[in-house]
Amino acid sequence: MTNIGSSNMLHRLRRELADDPSLAEWSPNLHAILNSISVPKEQQQQAGQCLADSCARNPIESHVIPDSSLKRLAARNSIITPHLDNSQTGSFEIMTGKTRPVFFGYCDEHEKSLFPWEGTMEFDSPIYPQSQLMRVADAFWREQSLRCTVLRQVIDATGPDGHLERLRLTTAAKKTIEHKRAVWSQAAAEIDRTVRDFETLRRCIRYGMKDADHPEAAAIGSVLIPSSAGHFLLLADAGHVPDFPQLDAAQPAPFVVSLLYGGQGSSLCFASTNAATAVVDRMRWEFSNDPEEAIKYALHWMRHGNFYWYINQEAWLEFDLDLRAKMKLELERGPHVAMALYASGGVAAHPILRWGNRWA
Ligand SMILES: [Zn+2]
Repeated sequence: MTNIGSSNMLHRLRRELADDPSLAEWSPNLHAILNSISVPKEQQQQAGQCLADSCARNPIESHVIPDSSLKRLAARNSIITPHLDNSQTGSFEIMTGKTRPVFFGYCDEHEKSLFPWEGTMEFDSPIYPQSQLMRVADAFWREQSLRCTVLRQVIDATGPDGHLERLRLTTAAKKTIEHKRAVWSQAAAEIDRTVRDFETLRRCIRYGMKDADHPEAAAIGSVLIPSSAGHFLLLADAGHVPDFPQLDAAQPAPFVVSLLYGGQGSSLCFASTNAATAVVDRMRWEFSNDPEEAIKYALHWMRHGNFYWYINQEAWLEFDLDLRAKMKLELERGPHVAMALYASGGVAAHPILRWGNRWA
């Protein structure tokens, strides 16, 4: 999950404008314009509707990564999670309440019925894979929709008919703004596509929860990684749209992944639309036969596709300093940071799903 937040996105945009020497003179005005941007009330997540079918109640905060599981782990061991200071400097710190991702997804009743393990702590529920993957897809979709709204507002507010017109910008400053607006527009179009792709995946997962044989049901895989396989990644969730050139371009293949730590080991769950059934089948087969491959895949998501992940401190301390330094750099330059501004990122940022390697 890459939910850094829309306010963080505005902060980064402000800094991007402030850092540009050609715009220095108008920095206070540009800040004022960005500060005036707010998400319309009906789009504010807490003012929205529960994401369960035809439920009109207001959503409450839903934990993207099962909170019951995190609490259970934290009771036994300190948990390390990535952290970005001032959305710039990466570090790895002990998990606190603030570093557990939430989004406004479902009303209190649906939260209880869709994710019963949050209350019962029974993680072997048969509905776990579909239900948790639905939550990951919903959270990703919510976040991207919100970012798209913010970005479009920034593009409008800095446009030729906006406040900037009265500021008598120099030609160089105008050019800079024009260039930035073109980049933002391209990013917004990309996020739009991601939002649409995830609409499809959310629909497919819901079909699958009602009728697994429905032709539009999502392709879902769930594989148990036994404790003996030496897992050290505890929990992570992620969503991404890889490019699969061998698939019909009209049929998107967005992916969601969730890794849950349970008593017997970890469950790695993944889902895509039925356009990627063959890929999901292959992953399920390979991961069941070779837990090491499943761990590699999960670790890859953790390092390259996901801002929120958790690992116990004991395992973290076993990482050598070089690896920790490399991970810090990855965190600062990673797609989750780029995505705070430019959303879905390139497929190159997700090499495990890149065409030509074993997973694409
Ligand atoms: Zn509801």
